[in-house]
Amino acid sequence: MAAVDNAVNIAIVGSCNTDLISYVPRLPKPGETIHGTKFSVGFGGKGANQCVMAARLGVKVAMVSKVGDDSFGHDTIKNFQTNNVNTNHVSMTKEAATGVAPITVNTEGQNSIVIVSGANMLITEDDAKSALSQMPDLKVVICQLEISPHTSLAAMKYAKEKGILTIFNPAPAIPELDSQFYKYADIFCPNETETELLTGLPVTNITEAEKAALALLDKGCSKVVITLGTQGSVVVTSETRKAIHIPTNKVKAIDTTGAGDAFIGSLAYYLAHYPALPLEECIKRASHIASVSVCGAGTQTSFPWKKDLPSELF
Ligand code: ADP
Repeated sequence: MAAVDNAVNIAIVGSCNTDLISYVPRLPKPGETIHGTKFSVGFGGKGANQCVMAARLGVKVAMVSKVGDDSFGHDTIKNFQTNNVNTNHVSMTKEAATGVAPITVNTEGQNSIVIVSGANMLITEDDAKSALSQMPDLKVVICQLEISPHTSLAAMKYAKEKGILTIFNPAPAIPELDSQFYKYADIFCPNETETELLTGLPVTNITEAEKAALALLDKGCSKVVITLGTQGSVVVTSETRKAIHIPTNKVKAIDTTGAGDAFIGSLAYYLAHYPALPLEECIKRASHIASVSVCGAGTQTSFPWKKDLPSELF
């Protein structure tokens, strides 16, 4: 009989990638070999990032994912354990390599990225449902689109049927998103570019974001949160249909990679840990944490731990 994962409050059904970052004077042309100046390896994948952020705030989080039986896969599991993430449902497969993202960054900060999803695409609907069914204390499930959309949808549908709150981050966005995603997401949380792709509307300022948020509501979701980088976020619910702008902190940004993941992981933490806190306040605090993350380099390396954050956030 499968073990029961008591006390897990948040589950992420999603991706793990290993980022392989080469820094170069300029991006190579087709067929060209050039020398880079620096190389680094980072833990990534939207699912893994959101999971690590939530775990660093001190809530019990489980990752539901698949990695290859290779050095990146073993290191990914070790990284989760270092971050106090439950890895009982991170399985290892011999059928594909761990997801990787070779990234090339030039001196102007422009990049080119190749994502090879590998094992991420082998997480099945049954894997997701069986993992979630072993977590009796689950309060929030987060899904994105870096694994098979069928698996994300099955996980959200299962959670919704059990009365567990679902957060859906439609990233990377696909224009023809199955309409069921809107139905099964309690909180639908895209950034500007994802919102533009899903609605066909421009999202360059708060007024446009408010209009686009209403358009997403019309597609069938009940709560929409659009993140807008330095402009903070916009939230609207089907109850009021009145979009509210929530600004973020003014900070000196060093590296904004992963800000959206820091925001979503933190939002899940507040929703799971402080169920009585109004959504706007949860968003305000999640923005604060995301604004801290942009002040450090890298993705997970820039995510703060609870002990490093002001006590008024808790
Ligand atoms: P993504 O990384 O998905 O593009 P965003 O850039 O919209 O997501 O960032 C998510 C959240 O992080 C924003 O809503 C905001 O609260 C915060 N944030 C992002 N960039 C900054 C920044 N430069 N200064 C302050 N807060 C930021």
